[in-house]
Amino acid sequence: MEPKIIARSAHIMSRRDISAEALKVLYRLHGAGNIAYLAGGCVRDLLLHRQPKDFDVVTDAHPGQVRSLFRNCRLIGRRFRLAHVFYPNGAIIEVATFRAAEGHAELQAARPPRHAHAVKTHDGLILRDNLFGTPEEDALRRDFTVNALFYNIADFSILDYVNGVHDLNLGVIRSIGEPRVRFTEDPVRMIRAIRFASALNFRIEERDYEALAAMAPHLARAAPARLYEEILKLFFCGHAERVFQHLQRTGLLGVLFPEFERWSVLPEGQAALSRTEAGLRALDEWRRQEREVSPALCFALIFGAYHKAAAVALARRGLPPWEALRAATTQHLTRLAPRLQIPKQVVMRAGDIMAAQPRLLERRRRDVEGLPRRPWFGEALAYLEFVARAHARYQDLAGWWSAVARR
Ligand code: ATP
Ligand code: MG
Repeated sequence: MEPKIIARSAHIMSRRDISAEALKVLYRLHGAGNIAYLAGGCVRDLLLHRQPKDFDVVTDAHPGQVRSLFRNCRLIGRRFRLAHVFYPNGAIIEVATFRAAEGHAELQAARPPRHAHAVKTHDGLILRDNLFGTPEEDALRRDFTVNALFYNIADFSILDYVNGVHDLNLGVIRSIGEPRVRFTEDPVRMIRAIRFASALNFRIEERDYEALAAMAPHLARAAPARLYEEILKLFFCGHAERVFQHLQRTGLLGVLFPEFERWSVLPEGQAALSRTEAGLRALDEWRRQEREVSPALCFALIFGAYHKAAAVALARRGLPPWEALRAATTQHLTRLAPRLQIPKQVVMRAGDIMAAQPRLLERRRRDVEGLPRRPWFGEALAYLEFVARAHARYQDLAGWWSAVARR
């Protein structure tokens, strides 16, 4: 299949928007006679006038050839598929060789590396052509049409195998191929669809949306560690409030956070929904301000209202309020483990943040001395600030503690 080619004069992507390091990599590869494209998120973002997070390069040069072209280059990945080119200013450009679809990600993960011996003896120079593919195959293996565009350094054109430019203009997230098939191959794509739709303010194509609702339970098959990483990206995308709505509507919320979802539809949970939403808005606002938000603080914000409700029940059984908050938080986050492997330190830290809240309110002498020295104090105070603003209470208190901490 021939791609649509959008000539330099017909699109807005300019070399001025591409990092100097990415350009160097592209020119070096091209100069050595290889195909060299920018690919994926950076092309999408530049065509939308957005600042890309990073620049990814794809080429027909094999990893060993890439390495021989760059001094400051390391091959990474279990199967040596990627090259990282390092620059003194800290920039890292990822260079991947075109590859074909690999089938089920889960099966791949479980399978031992192919040709393990050959990999060791011949390093990256082992050319496993069964892994590599054509530019077209590389476009088609990607998740969504808007993520599958190439920018060709040879003539500054855009190559479009999947009608991605059309979808960019429409503002649509659309799977490449049959959504149900693509979500079965890799259920994490469901979370990614919601992330891109939320971050770009795109709509999710109808068939994709139906597939999300139908396939939601499949998310349980995704590797918990990988799912954890994608969930963080999801809630840190700057539009957690939209994300939450998509999760609710598609049923993914119940798959990811079953207890929370069950509570959220009870009268008690519905009454507290505005507090959950306030937590998500605070998260988004802090991201916009480029304020550092730890994963623990993120989970504290999302589930704060739920954990408080659960703590009330525990306190009735005799736990002091701070211990009840800690227990409600850590127990719930720990129980998410089969789906979502939240690291233990993150769970503990979220518990610390919540347990600190009653003590921040009480301001006992001992705490005034001790709390500001605790490693979690900044996060606990940030949570208090959020509560203060969301409920227009304790405002002076957050300021007071900040002043104490600065003393
Ligand atoms: P971001 O700007 O958030 O980094 P991105 O589009 O660059 O978004 P990445 O996760 O960095 O997303 O992945 C880079 C590219 O790799 C994607 O644009 C997509 O083409 C492809 N890709 C990533 N994950 C998958 C997946 N699970 N299935 C298919 N293609 C994927
Ligand atoms: Mg990226």
